[in-house]
Amino acid sequence: MRIGVPKEIKNHEYRVGLTPASVAELVAAGHEVLVETQAGMGIDFADEAYTKVGARIAPDAAAVFAGSDMIVKVKEPQKQEIALLEPRHTLFTYLHLAADKPQAEGLMASGATCIAYETVTSNSGALPLLKPMSEVAGRMSIQVASHYLEKEQGGRGELLGGVPGVAPCKIAILGGGVSGINAAQMAVGQRADVTIYDINNERLAELDMHFGSQIKTAYASKAAIAEAVARSQVVIGAVLVPGAAAPKLVTRDMLKTMMRGSVLVDIAIDQGGCFETSKATTHDDPVYEVDGVIHYCVANMPGAVARTSAFALNNATLPFVLKLANHGAEGAMKADRHLANGLNVYKGKIAFKAVADDLDLPY
Ligand code: NAD
Repeated sequence: MRIGVPKEIKNHEYRVGLTPASVAELVAAGHEVLVETQAGMGIDFADEAYTKVGARIAPDAAAVFAGSDMIVKVKEPQKQEIALLEPRHTLFTYLHLAADKPQAEGLMASGATCIAYETVTSNSGALPLLKPMSEVAGRMSIQVASHYLEKEQGGRGELLGGVPGVAPCKIAILGGGVSGINAAQMAVGQRADVTIYDINNERLAELDMHFGSQIKTAYASKAAIAEAVARSQVVIGAVLVPGAAAPKLVTRDMLKTMMRGSVLVDIAIDQGGCFETSKATTHDDPVYEVDGVIHYCVANMPGAVARTSAFALNNATLPFVLKLANHGAEGAMKADRHLANGLNVYKGKIAFKAVADDLDLPY
């Protein structure tokens, strides 16, 4: 199959759909890969890194789309990319269509087969192509929190892990799923005093087994969260209710009890955020203060560590890209129901019921 990798054009997107290592696997399997010039520059891969492993370089996106059967990207296609899609194309990328009717209509009009990373499933019912980004955001949340706790950044001027003779900071992690456990791993590594709150008792038991005495776990009742907010220097929001807006676990009143210069990191901001005072921010201007508490609410945290994120994403997507290339989109989806769950737009119609319902479009 001929596989195309355009340069990402969404603002501040530095990742790339296929790294040179992934291209090498596809070329070894007998496929042709066409990469837009400079596509890997955001993560320090020059065109030569791609030609070395057998890719050809195209001068622009139009040439990539014209010379490929499948397009592998990171972000949802922008208007000018949608215009280049044809019925013969398979598009494999994050789409997040439920909140983007113009994109959905554009993809329907293109006639292309559009498979979304975010709805591909795994045997355990998880979302394996979303998982790496939650891992990145979870780990990064502690890095961000320790940075903003510094005095120069407006923080309390405290070191997460303390030092001998000075107590470590208390960190409350709300939600013990993928991002929560990754946040906890980093926080434990920095010797902070960590408590994870969740409403899933089975998950709390797993976390307890996993970390032993390195952390505490608590049921996420309103009272427990109120107490946590009042005594913690850092609160990480890492909850998810699939398909729904994040529950507002920390109210404005609770915030008033928090220490000045403490830090909230709302990873769940892409689902509306789990603090009442959260509003989405960007890497250009990531934080703001309410009642003396620093809020970090960047909706695209992995973008800041584009190189790590691109590798992590490729690790997860490559097996599916290979299947699609080896068997064609229809053959691959027939053989793998988890990949088939990724199908969002097919032959001019929305092929994912929840998206069709949300957007009131034909299914
Ligand atoms: P996950 O499903 O692995 O974990 C969510 C956890 O929240 C579960 O353990 C669940 O039991 C728990 N939970 C649900 N309701 C709760 C409540 N009321 N109180 C306490 N716990 C509750 O989800 P995840 O992969 O860790 O993702 C978490 C959020 O982070 C999602 O909204 C995801 O989209 C988002 N995310 C954001 C970024 C970013 O850049 N900001 C990056 C990746 C993921």
